[in-house]
Amino acid sequence: MSKQVIVVGSGNAALCAGIAALEAGAQVLMLEKAGPDLAGGNTKYTAGAMRFAYDSGADLKPLLRDPDDPRLLRTEFGSYTQDKFGADLLGFNDGRPLSPEQDKLIRRSGETMQWLAQHDVTFEPIYSRQSFEKDGRFVFWGGLTLAADNEGVGLFDMEMAAFRRLGGTVRFDSAVTGLVQDNGKITGVRVGDTEIAADAVILASGGFEASADMRVKHIGPDWAEAKVRGTPMNTGDGLVMAVEAGAQEYGLYGGCHATPMDLHMANYGNLDLPHGDRKNYRKICYFLGLMLNARGARFVDEGINFRNYTYAQFGRAVLEQPGHFAWQVFDAKVFDLLYGEYHFHDAHFVEADTLEALIPMLDGVDAVAARRTLEAFNAAVDDQTEFDPTILDGKGTIGLPLAKSNWAQRLDQGPFRAYPVTGGITFTYGGLKVDDAGAVMDRADAPIPGLYACGELVGGVFYNGYPGGSGLTSGAVFGRQAGYGAARA
Ligand SMILES: Cc1cc2nc3c(=O)[nH]c(=O)nc-3n(C[C@H](O)[C@H](O)[C@H](O)COP(=O)(O)OP(=O)(O)OC[C@H]3O[C@@H](n4cnc5c(N)ncnc54)[C@H](O)[C@@H]3O)c2cc1C
Repeated sequence: MSKQVIVVGSGNAALCAGIAALEAGAQVLMLEKAGPDLAGGNTKYTAGAMRFAYDSGADLKPLLRDPDDPRLLRTEFGSYTQDKFGADLLGFNDGRPLSPEQDKLIRRSGETMQWLAQHDVTFEPIYSRQSFEKDGRFVFWGGLTLAADNEGVGLFDMEMAAFRRLGGTVRFDSAVTGLVQDNGKITGVRVGDTEIAADAVILASGGFEASADMRVKHIGPDWAEAKVRGTPMNTGDGLVMAVEAGAQEYGLYGGCHATPMDLHMANYGNLDLPHGDRKNYRKICYFLGLMLNARGARFVDEGINFRNYTYAQFGRAVLEQPGHFAWQVFDAKVFDLLYGEYHFHDAHFVEADTLEALIPMLDGVDAVAARRTLEAFNAAVDDQTEFDPTILDGKGTIGLPLAKSNWAQRLDQGPFRAYPVTGGITFTYGGLKVDDAGAVMDRADAPIPGLYACGELVGGVFYNGYPGGSGLTSGAVFGRQAGYGAARA
């Protein structure tokens, strides 16, 4: 008789787990807290970009929605080796070696993408953001080459279609509120007053980024106020249930991905906006100007590195300032370089012809101190080096206690603009420990019978940041593992 498997959640990790369990012969019921509109969790908010190791463009062809796209003849995907993926992850590990989970993510990333393609999940090259045109050819530069056809919503739709084709069942508006445990073994779940029995339960219900209480408990008091960039549903339910059932907490609970966001955006992401517009609450051009806190002081080296390497950390830096906000200040010289998000119809900013007129408009900021900071900054800018935003130009400040290391230009050309920002949390890094079958480990390092986990719930995959596109791949790798594990146990 086939196994009965329950999957909790309906994002990328849940769907990969469900597809794998069905493939392995189980009957699968997916229980999703949200209604059909918000089902799919953070997965639907993404650009669908997925990072994986590959040796050459030939590995990518079977993944493409349109393998006959004439642009492919003029495209250089290069290679993204497992070693390179490892080096990129190590760059965020604060000196830690690769964890076993990171190692698995790297090794299984390529084969998992091929597996998704076998289930008719298809991808498109990210020409617009990850390649540049050189001598009539498209050259990819960062190892992140493909995104799901129609981004996160497309990924959800294609995976859901595969799940249903294989015979999976989904129930929306069905928040799992507890696990049923019998003699240590998980034998089902509770949805309100109802118990649903299963041979195995796979938790794929995301992290705790949308729970203010859990953010405060694990990350710190400043995080009560954080904006949430994605779904309001990921309140750590699966994590709490698993720990109550004896699971071991694993990974960096104080760690999360967080980005500077418009101070006046809504408290959660908004799926009703078209995809491009959803990103417009993000404000990550601080490297072209300065950030001032309520004390009128700078608090980070805005130009310490390319924004790819700072944007996921500076959300935290902003949130930890007094009042949890900062102002990003620019002059007219860089207006054309500011990303589209700064020109979004809903972007909040103030503008004045002179810095003197702008400073009193910075709500909540000590104006006297702000003026002193701006004057000191302008006086410290290195005039000898040329500004070049395409490289680490070394145009820094001289003699300031807190330097700006690159792209330091005087704020001296009106009009001047300032944008109020806060920190927006994307997802959390702390989670559960799973074994090679995806089973959740207890505090004595033994698997809890009948309990599996995947996706944001798996700890040990990310520490102080991550190379973009790794979250979805992690969900797919660990989701597939949990699906097979639960169906075959
Ligand atoms: C704005 C934004 C952009 C991003 N862009 C990218 C990107 O381009 N590439 C990338 O790799 N990553 C990206 N990420 C990160 C990515 O979204 C996550 O890594 C990934 O989606 C996590 O997948 P998951 O299946 O674990 O969680 P989710 O997709 O969040 O799914 C969790 C599901 O569980 C449900 N749930 C929660 N509690 C319960 C309960 N008690 N009972 C039943 N169901 C429950 C939720 O409603 C949700 O549907 C982005 C995140 C955000 C917020």
